[in-house]
Amino acid sequence: MMGLLDRLLRCGEHQFPMVRIGLNYVCTAEYLDEVIGHRRLTEVSQDTDGVLYLQFGPERWLPLFCPCCGEASVTGDLDAFKQRWCGRRVEGFTTYQERAEGDTWDVIEIFFSGREPEEDRTLPIGIKSVQQLEIAED
Ligand SMILES: [Zn+2]
Ligand SMILES: [Zn+2]
Repeated sequence: MMGLLDRLLRCGEHQFPMVRIGLNYVCTAEYLDEVIGHRRLTEVSQDTDGVLYLQFGPERWLPLFCPCCGEASVTGDLDAFKQRWCGRRVEGFTTYQERAEGDTWDVIEIFFSGREPEEDRTLPIGIKSVQQLEIAED
């Protein structure tokens, strides 16, 4: 669920945007680190709306949405996408803001392990992806 303050609050320690998860506002950096930090990307799937899900182990799924408009981030070639990303570990996160046509939005980049230059193993996500991160309950 979107919180009223989702685009306004920022973590004083990390300067990452805060989002509402359940009843609380949490720092996206701390939340992502807790949920997928250092985990291996094991599988990528796509639902019937075309939304890509990054799967981390058997119980964590991160959906990919465009940071600016929240539309599903699509790929024309799921197999190539899997080949490129599966097996890598999450190494860290950074954030910045983008601005266009009077609107501003937050981008969070996930750094993955690998030997390529850093920009070639980075995936940008938006706040919506963090809000819709799915964790299997047991
Ligand atoms: Zn923080
Ligand atoms: Zn967009």
